[in-house]
Amino acid sequence: MKVAFLDRDGTIIEDYEDNLWRSITEPVFINGSIDALKAIRQKGYEIIIITNQYLINEKIITLQQYKEITDKFIKRLLDSGIEILDIFYCPHSKEENCNCMKPKEGMIKMALEKYPEIDLENSFIVGDSLCDVQLGERLGIKTFGIRLDRSKGKTIKIDSIKDIVKYL
Ligand SMILES: [Mg+2]
Ligand SMILES: [Zn+2]
Repeated sequence: MKVAFLDRDGTIIEDYEDNLWRSITEPVFINGSIDALKAIRQKGYEIIIITNQYLINEKIITLQQYKEITDKFIKRLLDSGIEILDIFYCPHSKEENCNCMKPKEGMIKMALEKYPEIDLENSFIVGDSLCDVQLGERLGIKTFGIRLDRSKGKTIKIDSIKDIVKYL
């Protein structure tokens, strides 16, 4: 099973400054992201979301708020005919020094434990933050950085998630 490991905020839905997240209750999909996810599925990839949500343990948003946004996120995708396999999130604050906050590999390890059939070599990762591309480079898998200049490694720079379709 080949997997698209996708960041959520700033990659599929709009991201905001930390404090602005307090008042966010609805996911706002970035232009073209739903079509991109559809294309990724049509190319035979399962979709797993891996998202740093340190805002939870840093008490900027509540776990309930995160879950409500996630439910709406999943529903909107299902309404568009897109099933995602799973979502892994890291709720920990930066000070907790957990093993799951990207660029650490914890969420990927959890995914591999839950789905041993994952073919990591033929999977890829997309994100708009340095931590996303660092994780991809650490894993040695195909990595797409959104508007990130990255001369290091094989990371491919794209302007938005919809651009990856031509690379799959
Ligand atoms: Mg992001
Ligand atoms: Zn964590």
